[in-house]
Amino acid sequence: MTQLKAAKEGKITPEMKKVALDEQIDVKELRQLIADGKVVIPKNINRTFDVRAIGKKMKTKVNANIGTSGDCPFLDIELEKLDAAIKAGADSVMDLSTGGDLNAIRRAIEEKCTVMLGTVPIYAVAAELAMRDMTTDHISEEVLLRNIENQCREGVDYITVHCGITKESVARMDNADRTCGIVSRGGSILANWIRKNGKENPLFEYYDDLLDIAFKYDVTLSLGDGFRPGAITDATDRPQISELMILGELAKRAYERDVQVMIEGPGHVPLSQIVTNMQLQKRLCNDAPFYILGPIPTDIAPGYDHITSAIGGAIAGAAGADFLCYVTPAEHLCLPDAKDVHEGVIATRIAGHIADIEKGIPGAWERNVEMATARKELNWERQFELSIDPDTARSKFRHNKEFDSCTMCGKLCAVKIDEGR
Ligand code: SF4
Repeated sequence: MTQLKAAKEGKITPEMKKVALDEQIDVKELRQLIADGKVVIPKNINRTFDVRAIGKKMKTKVNANIGTSGDCPFLDIELEKLDAAIKAGADSVMDLSTGGDLNAIRRAIEEKCTVMLGTVPIYAVAAELAMRDMTTDHISEEVLLRNIENQCREGVDYITVHCGITKESVARMDNADRTCGIVSRGGSILANWIRKNGKENPLFEYYDDLLDIAFKYDVTLSLGDGFRPGAITDATDRPQISELMILGELAKRAYERDVQVMIEGPGHVPLSQIVTNMQLQKRLCNDAPFYILGPIPTDIAPGYDHITSAIGGAIAGAAGADFLCYVTPAEHLCLPDAKDVHEGVIATRIAGHIADIEKGIPGAWERNVEMATARKELNWERQFELSIDPDTARSKFRHNKEFDSCTMCGKLCAVKIDEGR
């Protein structure tokens, strides 16, 4: 029984009750939003953890990507990053490991992960071939589906599957005049596989089998955007939008089979196109939850892409994006470390909170009022408590004890002067 099937049948699950309490929403309204495919609760039937919901009327959620690479295949570093992500307040973690013993790494992360866990199974299949010095052209359909089934059985809550890369959409991409081509790892692997093998994407061709697996374990499908723009000049072009249209059709098929589904989105997008992208996704995909990777509204800030992404994420979230994948200062440069993970999660949570104010999420506006009041009262401890990152706020604070101000203005503290103190 999936959360979607239960909701369609009018049943309220323990997970719905928990989410309704957290989100301050009537549980019947929540059930209806799930039944309509507008909200998902990614939770594998074989896992127990602190569940959260993604979608309409829900707080904007934040994902942190972690995982080894061939250059850095060390589990202990990834567990440190997992810890950093959860401490910083991530709602979800994706294990994108491509180096070392992938099954052992995923199991270890799953065991310690207290939030929802996602993966991109094709990474594991491609990485295993790479470890044997074989190219991704040799991916076998059977191995890919078996790997997906294994990961789902073992407990991942959602998987990114790039089902919208098809022979037709690859031909469209090959005729496009992109600056940056394909920048999604999964997208590039599958497009290349289609070109080399002349066959249809197995994730598209065997989509019904994929739905069977997802239904069995209530794994939410996150339909990946393999043709997301990797440069602002490539945003909202024909390959991106034609893939989105396919994803909308696949989302409908998943919904009809009672499989929870969300859609992934761009990418690098100039500011003026962000709202349009959110509206297009919601319109083409029947209001399915939208999981976005950025968007990054400028390409020229490597080292600071957690900031560019937070700017784009706040605007996208306010326009309806439901789930923000973080970007760290390491983006485009290297595998992030634990410090990058912390900064990425915090920056993305700021974006999510800004969006929540605009969405009218219960408690978002009120928290700002409380902060303003604490500032007016020079109530430092309360300010720290209300901060998105209390430890950083506390560590930066310098108290001018003589005037009970901070050292920014000291004796000339505007708050004190305003009160005639
Ligand atoms: S010293 Fe300046 S910055 Fe610090 S609390 Fe007073 S007005 Fe604000």
